[in-house]
Amino acid sequence: MKAKEELIKLVLDNDFITAPRLRTEFRSLLDRVEIEAQAEFKNCKKLKDLNEHNAQTISIQCAMTDNNPILNGIACPKCGEELYDSNPMVTIISMPAKKNVHCSKCDYFGYRIA
Ligand SMILES: [Zn+2]
Repeated sequence: MKAKEELIKLVLDNDFITAPRLRTEFRSLLDRVEIEAQAEFKNCKKLKDLNEHNAQTISIQCAMTDNNPILNGIACPKCGEELYDSNPMVTIISMPAKKNVHCSKCDYFGYRIA
């Protein structure tokens, strides 16, 4: 039986105000009613569709992310000009992690440790 139904039965069947034992039972039933109500609420929580999530998240990430190449203070190993981080917001997951770099003067492409 659900706690809510037990609670109603307890109140209807007893003069619980005068019986301390029933007051304790009343209190614990009230707690169970609360717990069951929370569980029901969780069960009917609407979950987001995966495609919906991905579409929302990618638009937020793109809006917040400037991925244009930026100078990184490292000299090009071929011509000595300053290198660019080709995709500043992208880190290649490896051990150690790396970033793509390139030189706009001599077209050198390579990696640096992130
Ligand atoms: Zn170069």
